[in-house]
Amino acid sequence: MIKMKTPEHILTTLKEIVGRKGWTNDEDKIENHITEWRGMWRGYCDIVISPVNTEEVSSVIKVCNASGIPVTPQGGNTGLVGAAVPEGGVLISLNRLNRIRDIDIHNNTITVDAGCVLNEIQIAAENVERFFPLSLGAEGSCQIGGNLSTNAGGIRVLRYGNARDLVLGLEVVLPDGRIWNGLRALRKDNTGYDLKHLFIGAEGTLGVITAAVLKLFPCQKDCKTALIAMDSPKEALKLMKIIETEANDDLSSYEILNRESMELVLSQTSELIYPFNNLHNWYALVELTSPTRIEQELESILSNAFKDKLINDAVIANNKSQAINFWKIREAIPIYQSKLGASIKHDISVPVSKVPEFLHLAIQLVREKVPEIKVIAFGHLGDGNIHFNLSQPPTKEVDAFLNERPSLNHLVYEIAAKLGGSFSAEHGIGKLKRNEMHHYCSKTEIRVMQKLKENIDPKGTMNPNKIL
Ligand code: FAD
Repeated sequence: MIKMKTPEHILTTLKEIVGRKGWTNDEDKIENHITEWRGMWRGYCDIVISPVNTEEVSSVIKVCNASGIPVTPQGGNTGLVGAAVPEGGVLISLNRLNRIRDIDIHNNTITVDAGCVLNEIQIAAENVERFFPLSLGAEGSCQIGGNLSTNAGGIRVLRYGNARDLVLGLEVVLPDGRIWNGLRALRKDNTGYDLKHLFIGAEGTLGVITAAVLKLFPCQKDCKTALIAMDSPKEALKLMKIIETEANDDLSSYEILNRESMELVLSQTSELIYPFNNLHNWYALVELTSPTRIEQELESILSNAFKDKLINDAVIANNKSQAINFWKIREAIPIYQSKLGASIKHDISVPVSKVPEFLHLAIQLVREKVPEIKVIAFGHLGDGNIHFNLSQPPTKEVDAFLNERPSLNHLVYEIAAKLGGSFSAEHGIGKLKRNEMHHYCSKTEIRVMQKLKENIDPKGTMNPNKIL
């Protein structure tokens, strides 16, 4: 582990590279960068450097690498596994590297600096009547460099894939400061190993992404959003298969949430409108989008599902604000969960067909282990990705509940593993899941990853103590 104070003469050189506006060592300002947004981790660094272009990133990294100074890249600091929390040395904030470099509407691509905020890229695409589909709750503050470095998922993976699937080219500053310009805007390019995929999902451990060429899609002119009530995830899965078959390629999101998740949101806010008379065990939030007009398909699918007793009730949003209301219910769940006290969270995935079995087993076993535990289960059924979050029961003290963390984690991850799933679906490994990484990945897999890291970053200066 690298633990050293950055020498004064190196700090002076770094300050000179980026100029007065490009650095801070002010304790209050640094605090926001070294602290994880929920306060789960607090790291430390000697300086925050904010370069404005790739050359500055390269010069900063060259200087740090030559002296073995650790470097942690940071985007919007919205990550959920502590991956952007520095452990000494220099924190490179990509905040000022935020230009849209180019939009090519005929090639359907946008080339952006890594520090562009996701929402700004969506808007830039809309302005030229194109659509950039990556979408997640943190889109107003997370950056595309962070999205790519975590291979972010979000609510449209079902139709468009993860962040990885939306990239054609990358520009990366390697751990020794060299710039790799892989900003190709090609849909076909079989020229040896596809290097960009090494850096996507690498959580800043192999270099700093400085720019990307992203795919754009036709604007989605019509949208139908429905909130559907049902008894169990089994029905949710059956309904999803029916919609997939009958609605052609229009299905773009299929989220589920359990009753406790809905109760939590409704208990915390009176601003969101609950459209049913009674509470139900499970809900699906479904969105169909299309570049052309969507005819009556969702209405007829849901009315048949109701007749067949597959669902208990359903409301299709009449207008945009109703649709936004449904999405706000879904997005509010992780935000309000802290109101229930301490929580133990899991971001698992299993094959889509196994989600009902996972939920059945996991809910039953955690309740046997900790009676009265609150299970806040929600997520992306369409991707087999469930956020299986557990909240402190009112009858248990915080410490006593958190002491159960290792055994509850083990229980949940073992069920996922037995069903062919993963302990980390979309949030990554960071600091949080390094033990699980060594437990659930094969020795061969870990060794290949270690060799890659050693080769690309022999001094181990890039975001040390993360992932491996
Ligand atoms: P940071 O948190 O700053 O960094 C994350 C990692 O990327 C760190 O390892 C960091 O070192 C590295 N990094 C950042 N920028 C660069 C760069 N330019 N080059 C190299 N490495 C870099 N995630 C999902 O996948 N799906 C969701 O649906 C989702 N919903 C969320 C909802 C909320 C309300 C919140 C707060 C978070 C959510 N997240 C979700 C998690 C988070 O938003 C994503 O992981 C996001 O991609 C992180 O982007 P960021 O810019 O904040 O990165």
